[in-house]
Amino acid sequence: MARLGGDEFAVLLPNADTIAGVLAAAERVRHALGSPFVVNGIELGIDASIGAVLSGDHGADPATLLQRADIAMYVAKEQGVGVCAYDPAIDGHSRDRLSLLGELRHALDRNEFFLVYQPKLSLATGDLCGVEALIRWQHPTRGLVAPDDFIPLAEHTALIGPITQRVLDLAVSQIRIWLDLGHRIPIAVNLSARNLLDDRLVDQILGHLDRYRVPAELLELEITESSIMTDPTGAQQVLTRLHEHNIRIAIDDFGAGYTSLAQLKNLPITSLKVDRSFVTTMDTDAANAIIVQSVIDLGHNLGLTAIAEGVESADALSTLTNFGCDLAQGYHLSRPVAPDVLLAWYSERLTKDPSEASAHAESVSL
Ligand code: C2E
Ligand code: CA
Ligand code: CA
Repeated sequence: MARLGGDEFAVLLPNADTIAGVLAAAERVRHALGSPFVVNGIELGIDASIGAVLSGDHGADPATLLQRADIAMYVAKEQGVGVCAYDPAIDGHSRDRLSLLGELRHALDRNEFFLVYQPKLSLATGDLCGVEALIRWQHPTRGLVAPDDFIPLAEHTALIGPITQRVLDLAVSQIRIWLDLGHRIPIAVNLSARNLLDDRLVDQILGHLDRYRVPAELLELEITESSIMTDPTGAQQVLTRLHEHNIRIAIDDFGAGYTSLAQLKNLPITSLKVDRSFVTTMDTDAANAIIVQSVIDLGHNLGLTAIAEGVESADALSTLTNFGCDLAQGYHLSRPVAPDVLLAWYSERLTKDPSEASAHAESVSL
């Protein structure tokens, strides 16, 4: 048995000769995990999703077998069935996902990924304080594919590694392009849980900065709470190294997961991003407004910058200003846009009233 990373394990059954035998073993594993575990006097119930493959039937080399076990595990998890055997024709939906997964590999070779940028503005001054880089996939036949339709898929395979490297390369080169035009615009890049488990990550990031001669403080990394909780000790080490190199770190989607506050206090982070589900609903849901305000206060008390994302209205913007929030990001200010559109939008804002500046970017959004 081996730990692949985080909460993922592989079990090798050297004597299995039928898929039925593998599935029976998988069910026994699930059954064993079904009894509660007592940790420090607390009873914990856990669940596992298992993908099964048979060497010979589903592949002949370890890489193919592991990848297909990963896909089957993903289907087991998604369909809530516990155990699933790899089958290239599971059903239409899964087949579509499987083919999407195959196409993801080619997407890297064919340069089909590009980034759009969404500004983060200071609520006090209206200044542009940075942008978030968001990936887009220009697929040859499917058209524009949104990250929610392929990032979770990539995160279940090792592909998220090279995709993240491509995003970092594009983002850091964009910082350099803007620097050469006389603009210091920090860019935030999203990292996945699996990236944090990769020993090479820090050196790769430093390599991008070095290659484009970009100061580390212009790169920010956004990491979700749940990514950190996948492997808190490992994450702490990676984040500490990044912090030592002056790379800024934001906790993304804060409030939606469950970071322990003790953990948060010890992480070398610079900002908290309030999850957009609270921000988009705070004008109609008083409890969510209280959560937004509390997260902003928590961030400030820990010495962090508070960022609200999902700002969709002028009302939300003024509520956030009253809450003392530092930065805002959302459709009301600008959609994510191509880099030249961002620069045009930015230059235009410099010359006109900030309160009316959102309309232009909306018409050319991606
Ligand atoms: P996220 O990191 O929470 O990114 C913010 C998402 O909110 C973006 O969706 C953005 O377009 C959307 N958004 C911005 N303003 C508003 C608003 O006012 N209202 C609403 N309802 N939504 C708003 P997008 O670009 O579709 O990205 C979705 C998710 O995909 C991201 O969520 C992030 O988790 C992931 N993602 C995007 N790019 C990357 C990437 O390069 N790497 C990784 N690992 N994940 C990425
Ligand atoms: Ca983000
Ligand atoms: Ca977010």
